[in-house]
Amino acid sequence: MDSGETYIKMCDCPEIQKQRVIANGDFEVRFKHNRGQVEIHHHREITAHYKPEDHLWLPRQDQLQEMVTGDLTSKVYSFYIFTHPESACLHGNRETGYFNREYCKICTDERNRIFRTFTSMEQLWLAFVMKELHNKLWDGAKWIAQELDKASRTVRGDLNGDEEEEEWET
Ligand SMILES: [Zn+2]
Repeated sequence: MDSGETYIKMCDCPEIQKQRVIANGDFEVRFKHNRGQVEIHHHREITAHYKPEDHLWLPRQDQLQEMVTGDLTSKVYSFYIFTHPESACLHGNRETGYFNREYCKICTDERNRIFRTFTSMEQLWLAFVMKELHNKLWDGAKWIAQELDKASRTVRGDLNGDEEEEEWET
């Protein structure tokens, strides 16, 4: 379980915190009585005295995975595309019709950025959740809203037989 500084910073946003359903087994950081020092709690039992506002929730991987809709196949597939964008690249060269997704610079740069930025599965999954649900990217310090990339394919489009890429092939 990642409880490092970066993951804590990434979790500290309303998009994630508002999704919390408080339960035994949650991981969280307590700030108020421990300023400047991170104290990780792993609740066995949530008592009546518990104040959620004093705590920052650190979702486990399974909790992150539940935030994304879809069955197992589509979750695994869309997570794969998130970490390997070249596998679903639609940045074809419109002039020549030449299409070689293995060497797409945009997608390769994005994949490199992802694996340079994130160092744990929790961070990767959280980044994936934020992209899927809110179209936001972590720039290393904060979440940034993204323009919709028309060339990034969604799993839904893929499963529906979206053949958009064909128009670029000759
Ligand atoms: Zn591409």
